[in-house]
Amino acid sequence: MSDSDKDNRPKIGHKRQDTDQPMVLPGIHRYQFFTNLKDRGWTRNLDRVALFGIVAGLLATIIKPLLRGNPATIYCYECRACYATQDRCPVGITYQAELAVAGRVLDYDRFIRNGGLKCIRCGNCQSYCVQYLPLPQMFGTMQEDTRMAIRSGILPRYTLDRAMKMGLIGKDFIDDVVKALA
Ligand code: SF4
Ligand code: SF4
Repeated sequence: MSDSDKDNRPKIGHKRQDTDQPMVLPGIHRYQFFTNLKDRGWTRNLDRVALFGIVAGLLATIIKPLLRGNPATIYCYECRACYATQDRCPVGITYQAELAVAGRVLDYDRFIRNGGLKCIRCGNCQSYCVQYLPLPQMFGTMQEDTRMAIRSGILPRYTLDRAMKMGLIGKDFIDDVVKALA
């Protein structure tokens, strides 16, 4: 870096003027929000905190399914091509991608609401997945996680009540749900 470049650098602790923001296209400046706030004490490390939050969120998305033995859920693109299964799902599940994502983030309510506890793991939807992910195994793992959650009583009563009324509980799970609601 030449001496003149060094002289042109924004001074630490001074707000950068709009015209000094980096150019992305002729006449268009890219506004660097976080780095522009250095002169305000409470936001001094806001960019670092934001970056830490983003990295922590990404790691949680990856580590959670790995620890729970459902790593294939990480690879779901959320493209929703599997919705093409339509009436080839014998139990009438229409949003298979919702089950895959619920399994990734361990969202029991979302899984049950979309019929996850009705799935009989026949595998018909797998051929519609653009990545040929093992959907029956993914859903089966989440079903067992959900069963454990029901048994440990951490699921809200209204989630189970609503699922019973809507016929969203398969025969393999009915005893657990009835017991939890008793
Ligand atoms: S594996 Fe489950 S979601 Fe997929 S078609 Fe079979 S019953 Fe439906
Ligand atoms: S087709 Fe496969 S990758 Fe796409 S949303 Fe469905 S499960 Fe995920």
